[in-house]
Amino acid sequence: MVGSLAFSCNCGTLRGEVSAAGVKTGTRVVCYCADCRANELYHGQPDPAPDPVDLFQLSPDTITITQGAEQLKAIRLGRRGPLRWYAACCGTPFANTLAKPGLPFAGMRSDVFEDKSALGKIRAKAFLPVPGKQSRTNGGGVMAWGILSRMITARLSGRWKETPFFDAETGKPVAEPELLSKAQRAALYP
Ligand SMILES: [Zn+2]
Ligand SMILES: [Zn+2]
Repeated sequence: MVGSLAFSCNCGTLRGEVSAAGVKTGTRVVCYCADCRANELYHGQPDPAPDPVDLFQLSPDTITITQGAEQLKAIRLGRRGPLRWYAACCGTPFANTLAKPGLPFAGMRSDVFEDKSALGKIRAKAFLPVPGKQSRTNGGGVMAWGILSRMITARLSGRWKETPFFDAETGKPVAEPELLSKAQRAALYP
């Protein structure tokens, strides 16, 4: 039986918890893509490569920020990419979401949780490098099914509107995402 799970940024200003239902229906994955790595580097975190970034994909309505919500800011690495949220107090990368609340999805960084092991085992590996070939995703079916079933549940229940990342009235992000410049991006893809 899993309970709710507390999270915080590195300095402890931004805090909150994911409900037991959120923990139960979430999917822990790791991502090897260049964008997830670039996001870590942008915020001055240790370079994860060659290891991946550990993420917990969940329904945004199961995330409650109890303290420091005003620290939540976002960047975009490209016009089409996800919103990459971080805690502005200390630059801790926090979560990725899609650009609009209507497709409810969040991939929280596993490291923000007090007890990462409670997130369960890693169910998928995305953009796994394959020498001399295109990268590959293991467990893509499990990951896609998780995303889809959570989206359907949140849509049918109306809970997709309860998200810490978007204003419920306007559907706009709670902080205007900053689109990185070409030069900023270039420095992040070694
Ligand atoms: Zn990635
Ligand atoms: Zn902080």
